[in-house]
Amino acid sequence: MRAAVFKEAGKPWVVEERPDPTPGDGEAVIKVGRCGICGTDLNMTSGKGYDFPCDTILGHEFSGEVVAIGKGVTSLKVGDRVTALPAAGCGACDMCRAGQVVMCPNMSPYAGGYAEYMRIAERTAVQLPAALSLNDGALVEPLAVGLHGVRLANLPLGAKVLVLGAGAVGLAATFWAKRLGAGRVVAASRSERRRDMALALGADDYVLTGEGEAERVTQALDGMPDYVFEAAGAVGLLQQSINLVKPNGHVISLGFCMAPDPVIPGISTFKQVKLTFSMAWTVPEFQYAVDMLDSGHVEPRHMITSNIGLDALPDMIETLRGPHNETKVHVDPWA
Ligand SMILES: [Zn+2]
Ligand SMILES: [Zn+2]
Repeated sequence: MRAAVFKEAGKPWVVEERPDPTPGDGEAVIKVGRCGICGTDLNMTSGKGYDFPCDTILGHEFSGEVVAIGKGVTSLKVGDRVTALPAAGCGACDMCRAGQVVMCPNMSPYAGGYAEYMRIAERTAVQLPAALSLNDGALVEPLAVGLHGVRLANLPLGAKVLVLGAGAVGLAATFWAKRLGAGRVVAASRSERRRDMALALGADDYVLTGEGEAERVTQALDGMPDYVFEAAGAVGLLQQSINLVKPNGHVISLGFCMAPDPVIPGISTFKQVKLTFSMAWTVPEFQYAVDMLDSGHVEPRHMITSNIGLDALPDMIETLRGPHNETKVHVDPWA
């Protein structure tokens, strides 16, 4: 099969021939339909110390059609259209029973969506209803990331919510906050670029960050935010969130910053801020995201800005490392 491979930091990705995968016990192989490019694909191939292993096929926001099933698989059959978590656990430990498969001590990664075929685990696969496209299926992972964070917030009805960052995860947090109890939701970003997108996903208003941001936020929300979702992952964003949130407020970090990000505990203490870090997703969250799209809440489709083939992926990765106008780029390995 053909696959786009991360070779090493600082070198372009390479499209090359790789052996077709075969399903192990409890696994299926899918013909990849779409795979979304994620910020972590850029950050964790940048040579800053937390990179994926060299010579790896990445891609963890995928959907596709089952073409082969392994031993013991009962819930999937050839022809099923599915998405799946890009990880599976042992299925038996405390973490797995809580649905937190990424924290299973025996977690196995199942990335590899930048290829014509890939393996998935039966245990983490979710069927796509007929009304949903393969593009929709590839939106489920980033939607589930936002959903997990919003669930950790446990929003009371009418809560005032600020989302810092209007990338895919911030947009997903906006979408879910609006559907899971929030009152006013305001999206904030450094640029105007994603204003329309944030409003389309449910934000009541959109403000620019920078000089005077606290006033703009308070005005747009008619008060300070009870909840701040940090969804940009840049250094300084945690303290910015703490500064903006209301006393006794809750900051939820979804940004996945991989550099030291200092906060002043005294300011957090004065405001008695609660700070939560949100990690990934669970199988029920994947299913819930699929069900929400299937019920007609297809606003997240606005996030998709480009569909490209495998051959265009190496150049797109380099484009996305600089200033660009994309939000969610979907790769169709068969285009
Ligand atoms: Zn991702
Ligand atoms: Zn486990």
